[in-house]
Amino acid sequence: MRKKIAAGNWKMNTTPAEGVKLVSEILGKVSEVEGDVELIVCPPYTHLATILDKVKGSRIMVGAQNCAWELSGAFTGEISITTLKEMGVTHVIIGHSERREFFHESDEMMLKKVRLTLSHGLIPIFCIGEKLAEREKGIQFEVVVKQMEKVVYQLSEDDLKKVIIAYEPVWAIGTGKTATPEQAQDMHGFIRNSISKQYSSAVANTIPILYGGSVKGANAKEIFSMPDVDGGLIGGASLSVSEYIEIAKSF
Ligand code: PEP
Repeated sequence: MRKKIAAGNWKMNTTPAEGVKLVSEILGKVSEVEGDVELIVCPPYTHLATILDKVKGSRIMVGAQNCAWELSGAFTGEISITTLKEMGVTHVIIGHSERREFFHESDEMMLKKVRLTLSHGLIPIFCIGEKLAEREKGIQFEVVVKQMEKVVYQLSEDDLKKVIIAYEPVWAIGTGKTATPEQAQDMHGFIRNSISKQYSSAVANTIPILYGGSVKGANAKEIFSMPDVDGGLIGGASLSVSEYIEIAKSF
């Protein structure tokens, strides 16, 4: 049985006070989420300390949206993995399409981040996904497998088993255009098969593959019902308590 995961990526939204209010309201409704669904919130760095304090003892885990690719030193504006670990952060989103596009993150940087995250005992949520033009050309599978090859297929089997993959077609992020459940399943099945070929089916069957791209309460159930979809990485809808809770209840 693979984990079921509802991870909220808050991006650069909420002030510290708004973030604490949001997580407090989520905490107030968490008992509505039955079963062993893992709930992860990824607020901006500046809110991590207060939010970690707020969720202490609850089932909510806290992730960061990024980390530095080096351990320490002259990297103005960056946040290290050791800082995140000491604070109690458990997950780190790596390779989000917005970081690839706006911050020009390279595969080498992402691989370093994934390795540092794993070596410090945190869980990377590694994002992959094709752009609209790539899907229109019909090369989405090649694009995604290349993204896997450059980063997570560089890992040992033991390390890969600790990674969460998030398939996020770039054309569906923040656009309101969701992949159909069949499109999501096609890609998730393809990714799992690819992991199986690269490592083994036993490994492939343990790795959670999340779907991300305009997931909301109204479409989560259909998407999560697909056999290779193990949950969602949720952007916009994770800022609404009722939407996030509805999504978390959709397994
Ligand atoms: C995301 O940023 O990871 C995301 C999937 O955003 P949205 O749900 O808003 O499309």
